[in-house]
Amino acid sequence: MRAVLPAAAEQLLQDIHKTYQETSQIPDDLLIALRFVFGPCAVQALDLVEQHSITCLSSPSGRKAFQVSGGSGRRYTCFTSCHYCPCPAFAYTVLRRNQGLLCKHILAVYLSEAMGVTPVHGVSDQQMSTLLGGTSSL
Ligand SMILES: [Zn+2]
Repeated sequence: MRAVLPAAAEQLLQDIHKTYQETSQIPDDLLIALRFVFGPCAVQALDLVEQHSITCLSSPSGRKAFQVSGGSGRRYTCFTSCHYCPCPAFAYTVLRRNQGLLCKHILAVYLSEAMGVTPVHGVSDQQMSTLLGGTSSL
């Protein structure tokens, strides 16, 4: 599912998952590693997690999408399954310049999932189709 991430990033998310389950916090050494692997967006992503900005949308057919509210009040729908976010930073940094692994929204989703703190919101298959089509303001 996260095949696009390098092994070091995978490992880091797994470490965060394990440590957070045990201690309910992310120790400094993992925070530093996070910053090293993902760059400045790691801090912004953690902020989003702390502000509970991430919601998981789940449909009866098993599809999943994530909605992340940015600081500007905009809401982005991210799909970790295809590693995509519609925000400008993703298009510019990740797709065009190939400089970053991901934007703060997708990283926030990964972190929130790793920490097991994402609230799940059920939607109908029809709502999910609309989301996938990118036209929904759900
Ligand atoms: Zn984004």
